Amino acid sequence: MDKKINLKRMLEDLENLRQFGRTPQGGVSRQPFAGPDKLAREYLLKQAAQYGLQGRVDALSNIIIGYKGKSQEKKTLILASHYDSEINGGAYDGILGVVSGLEILRVLAENTIELKYPIELVAFNDEEGSRFGTGFSGSKAFTGLLTQDDLDNSIDAKGISLAQAMEKAGFDPQAYKDAIRNKEEILGYLELHIEQGPVLENLSKEIGIVTGIVGSCRYSIRVTGRADHAGTTPMNMRLDPLQPCAKLWAELPALAKIEDDDAVATVGSIVTKPGASNVVANSIEFTLDVRSLEKSGASKTSQLILQKLKEYCGIDYNVEIKNLKTLQQEEPTPMSYEIISTIEAAAQELEASYHFMGSGAGHDAELFADLCPTGMIFVPSKDGRSHSPLEYTKPEHIEKGAQVMMATVLKLLQKLN
Ligand SMILES: [Zn+2]
Repeated sequence: MDKKINLKRMLEDLENLRQFGRTPQGGVSRQPFAGPDKLAREYLLKQAAQYGLQGRVDALSNIIIGYKGKSQEKKTLILASHYDSEINGGAYDGILGVVSGLEILRVLAENTIELKYPIELVAFNDEEGSRFGTGFSGSKAFTGLLTQDDLDNSIDAKGISLAQAMEKAGFDPQAYKDAIRNKEEILGYLELHIEQGPVLENLSKEIGIVTGIVGSCRYSIRVTGRADHAGTTPMNMRLDPLQPCAKLWAELPALAKIEDDDAVATVGSIVTKPGASNVVANSIEFTLDVRSLEKSGASKTSQLILQKLKEYCGIDYNVEIKNLKTLQQEEPTPMSYEIISTIEAAAQELEASYHFMGSGAGHDAELFADLCPTGMIFVPSKDGRSHSPLEYTKPEHIEKGAQVMMATVLKLLQKLN
């Protein structure tokens, strides 16, 4: 059967959808329950209806579009991604996966392809957390993990809670449990997403086959010393807490690699006190974010780095770690071997170049890995840029990604049960 992805149709969708929340800088701001998300819902449902596809919006504003292909089975293969964006984010993050899923449904529908199991496209809202900080409320509701506490205590910059925002947008926050799906009825989960990093482009690969989503540890660390006059205190008579920290940071690239070659460590925020150019600081507070695909990899690497800091503080500089707060500790989420190998077979069949890789960013797919076979396909991001108006994926990569996804879907419908 000749089932061709229609790239032109996909590019039109992307162009139309980027208008909903378009910013003066050419980016997209499509926050949950803020207005432009409603226009995106209407657009996607209208597209579906044009091809005779059944669509609906659930209690958390996730869009669900189904194609049964004459299947009588209850279990459904889910193709998903998210349709919200970062503030002044790009026109591909999340929405490309939605458009790819929609395109697959359209091709199946216009060719009236019969399927062993039904397929559903699920476009989640509020993945990014760009409005309420937390994110994943759509996929959490879908998988039964969203709580009343999430609804009441996820608050935006204006003090509006997720529940209040939902109500204002015409949704009933009390009905959030209606979005829960029966786990027994989920056959598998497949998500296409832009890479959001430079790896595929650097390797000149068309497809990233995601082997897992990294685990992460995040800390806030305060080191204290003594404030002194920057002019009158000789270098060897200072208790400067910045010195051991600076020494540690310079070694991060080497330290990150000791436990796991692909682990990454980042100091993203630094605050010194009193913070004057003519005063030796008496305290420094910084964050450490460590990620790894290996089981317990992030925590092992973190311990190694923190141990090094302790050593430098005590032995070389005589300053103290006064406060060490663990902000986050999450294990990695491996993707299903069955789906990984199916994506690989699809890529080989289509002569697409591919690379096995971890995802350094979180995705809705994480919520499904414990429930059903779960997998992700990445397509290249130009210059690795994401969460920015500069986000871009070439049309030929969009087409290849959708083709590989389509071939993967058809294979999975035969394999999974
Ligand atoms: Zn995303």
